[in-house]
Amino acid sequence: MPNLAPIDHNPPTYERGIGLYLHVPFCQTKCPYCDFNTYAGIEDQISGYVHSLKNELQGWGKLLSRPPVLTIFLGGGTPSYLPTSDLEDIQKTIRGSFDVAEDTEITMECNPGDVTVDKATSWLESGVNRISMGVQSFDDELLSLLGRRHTAAEAKQAFAALREAGFQNQSVDLIYGLPYQSPEQWSHTLDEAIALKPEHISLYGLQIEKGTPLDVDVAAGKYPIPDDDLAADMYEAAQSRLDATGFTQYEISNWSKPNMESRHNLIYWLNEPYLGVGPGAHSWLAGQRFANLKSPRRYVMVVGEDYEIDGSNPVANMSMPSGPVEQIDETTPAIDVAETMMMGMRLNKGVTHERFIKRFGAKVDVVFPKEVERLLKLELIEINDNALLLSERGRLLGNEVFAEFIGDDEN
Ligand code: SF4
Repeated sequence: MPNLAPIDHNPPTYERGIGLYLHVPFCQTKCPYCDFNTYAGIEDQISGYVHSLKNELQGWGKLLSRPPVLTIFLGGGTPSYLPTSDLEDIQKTIRGSFDVAEDTEITMECNPGDVTVDKATSWLESGVNRISMGVQSFDDELLSLLGRRHTAAEAKQAFAALREAGFQNQSVDLIYGLPYQSPEQWSHTLDEAIALKPEHISLYGLQIEKGTPLDVDVAAGKYPIPDDDLAADMYEAAQSRLDATGFTQYEISNWSKPNMESRHNLIYWLNEPYLGVGPGAHSWLAGQRFANLKSPRRYVMVVGEDYEIDGSNPVANMSMPSGPVEQIDETTPAIDVAETMMMGMRLNKGVTHERFIKRFGAKVDVVFPKEVERLLKLELIEINDNALLLSERGRLLGNEVFAEFIGDDEN
């Protein structure tokens, strides 16, 4: 339970800049392990979706009086599956509705199978300046098990095509802890990724999400249950390998070359404001977390021709949501302080005293005296002159540490 008495709550406001997330709910095929809000076989909805997305962007730009946008992230789903003309149109709408600076980081998630030099050139010309590519593995058998529609060779070609087109900021996503994956296969995948010389690498341990086809197959005994100890060994092997090759780990799942961290994701981890548009997108703005309805078809119907955000929008502090917003959660100081700790502790540099005091008016060990004392005794955290951060041991037991900071949100 946090001690809320000394808190002087001063959360960041959207007028100082936001991260903008656009959710693209289309994939050419659905991977069996994926439980994201994304669908295959609904291409007939793409043009209606693009139209509605532009309406929603314009509505927000108007309501928030053209706020500064610090980062833009096109995620999904597979944004690279959208026609290039639609992507150009969306970028133009963003620039017409928001204050987008020259150096704004604009990331697009991309599937290797979609990349050609021509397409990459048009993405770059439309304003995208960072690519996050879902490679997942450099082993063709494992790619096939994951239901991916590319081979290892195609991923390498895609990376080279993006470089040829002029992309200077590329991230590669990999998954470890796969059924039948050996440490040698993982080591080979890491070597291949490092050889591409990306600016950024994200590593995710496979999660078997309930209700996915992979979950059904594991339950039926078609694939073995992932071995957590083996996955932990793979994670540690990756830490050493990346550390030795010029990458710096800055978050539990993310490594980068100097100054090439994902600025957009840092907004999430620092618990700064962001706006999400598109079906199922989440936002954290004006003291509230809210989410759009998930169904692409309903989204297109609701954000139709004459859609306009009005005073019944959550940001106008009314109780009833309007338009695509389906769920609103008010953020109290108790929730904000817990979430700031939970997200910030994921970062290697931890929660800095400077940021924490600026936002809450007191030091973290004043707001969480018992929790900090307990975690220090267990050697799961450290406090230095700059920050409170996970210890080496705490890094392996992160969830246990985060749970300590989840307070009673009624206070
Ligand atoms: S490409 Fe990505 S978003 Fe699409 S189904 Fe596969 S994992 Fe999910």
